[in-house]
Amino acid sequence: MSALKPAAPKKLYEGDYLFMKSYVCPVCENRLRIPTVKAGKARIISQDWDLRPVHKDIDVQKYDVVHCNKCGFAILKRYFGVLPKPHKELILEKISKKYDPHPEPVGMVRSYEEALTEYKLALLCAAIRQVHDSEVGLLTLKIAWLYRAQKLALGDDTESFTKAVRLKYDGFLDAEEKYLKKAMDYLLKARQTEEPPIAGMNETAIDFLLASLCGHFGKFDDAARLVSGILQSKQSSPSQKDRARDMLDAFRDKRDNV
Ligand SMILES: [Zn+2]
Repeated sequence: MSALKPAAPKKLYEGDYLFMKSYVCPVCENRLRIPTVKAGKARIISQDWDLRPVHKDIDVQKYDVVHCNKCGFAILKRYFGVLPKPHKELILEKISKKYDPHPEPVGMVRSYEEALTEYKLALLCAAIRQVHDSEVGLLTLKIAWLYRAQKLALGDDTESFTKAVRLKYDGFLDAEEKYLKKAMDYLLKARQTEEPPIAGMNETAIDFLLASLCGHFGKFDDAARLVSGILQSKQSSPSQKDRARDMLDAFRDKRDNV
């Protein structure tokens, strides 16, 4: 009989899920090494009401922007690619001139503050490039998620918070709501002017997300209209239609109780 105990599962840290991926900046041609989540490594353990995936041991949202430390250009990885010349010139003129180049950060793990700085640069670059509403919508949604993650890290026992922690919590919550509202507005516009897939979401997925966001902000008629569309769509599966019916009942109850 073996005296050996079964080995305890190895504890994984955020850095264990990451590797450095090479990119070439499409604005200044600087060679970049960007921390990237290894494909298939991070496991989803839950999903929030607005589709935010929660992974074990790592917040993958922190690693979704390519940011050039030389010229300041930043973009969501999904949209990374060759830039038209006029866009390059605009970034050089409006971002790079004011940007303070710095060495690449040491190590792969990023803090929420670092991630938010990169996302907000990406948002600025997106506005300058006059991108589609869907790209701004996805950026603002992910920024809201980064604030939510920081809020959740403080715990949910708000009664026991010191005044300083309470202030931090409220700041994260306000920022989360502000960016969620922006995400709803931009993605609603995108839904009217762009063809699915919108920000990588098919028609049913974007309508679920928009219905959830509209419900969150008390726009129950819009939410009910979106969910009715899911019920009528040939693309929706029976389980999606069941979920849509539950949402429709919940929105009608909430609307009647306002
Ligand atoms: Zn660059």
